[in-house]
Amino acid sequence: MKVLLVEDERYLAEAVAQILKKNNYDVDIAPDGEEGLVAAESGVYDVILLDIMLPRKDGIAVLKELRVGGVSTPVIMLTALGEIEDRVKGLDSGADDYLPKPFKTEELMARMRAVLRRRGDLLPDGALSFGDIEYDPNTLVLSCGNRSFDLTNKEGNLLEFLMANKGQTLSSDSIIEKVWGWDSEAEDNHVQVYISFLRKKLTGLRSRVRIKTIRNVGYTLIGEADHELC
Ligand code: CA
Repeated sequence: MKVLLVEDERYLAEAVAQILKKNNYDVDIAPDGEEGLVAAESGVYDVILLDIMLPRKDGIAVLKELRVGGVSTPVIMLTALGEIEDRVKGLDSGADDYLPKPFKTEELMARMRAVLRRRGDLLPDGALSFGDIEYDPNTLVLSCGNRSFDLTNKEGNLLEFLMANKGQTLSSDSIIEKVWGWDSEAEDNHVQVYISFLRKKLTGLRSRVRIKTIRNVGYTLIGEADHELC
C-alpha cells in the first residue's frame, strides 16, 4: 500500500511516515501543495494524507484540482485548526475523511483502513468488480461469468491498479512505479508485455472489458458502456 503524505511540518511528517512504515505502508512525503499535487496526479497512491495549511497551494485547492482532474484516490484531510467549517469545506471538496491534529496513531490507522475499505467497487469478500469481470486480489483469480483464470502476482497488481483507476489513463511510468517499484529496472516494454498478457486473459474469458492504449499517454481500462467512445 502506497501512501502520499502532504505535510509541511517536517518533524510531524517524519514522525507520521515512521509510524506508517512500521505498519507496512510505503510512504512518500511532499512538503508543499504544488509537489503534493504533482505526486498525487501520478495515480500510484492508495491513499493520500493531505494537510490543509500548506505552502504554495493549500490542501483544499490541491484536493479540488485532483477531483476535477479525475483522480479518485481516497484523501484524508489533516488540519491543526479542527474547526467545523474546515471539516465541511474539506468534505465538500471531495475528501473521504478528516482528521484533526494532533491525532493518535491508532486513530490514523483506523481512518486509513476505513477509506481503503470504501475504495472502488470492493465486493464484501475483498474482490474488485468492473464491467463483467471480478478480480480477487487474495486468490489472484480473475473471473467473468463462470469462466476464470489465475493471474500471476504482476498481472494481478497491474489489473488491480487499472481497476482502482478505471476510466483514467495511467502512464507507463506510473504503472512501473506501482507494479515494479521505484528502484526497478523495468521499462515500457515490460508494461506492454504484461498489458498483452492481461488482454489475452480478458479475451479468453470473453469479457467485454478492454485495456485501451492511448498512444504516447498510457493505458485505460474501459467497460461495456464506454465502447461507443472508442
Ligand atoms: Ca501545515
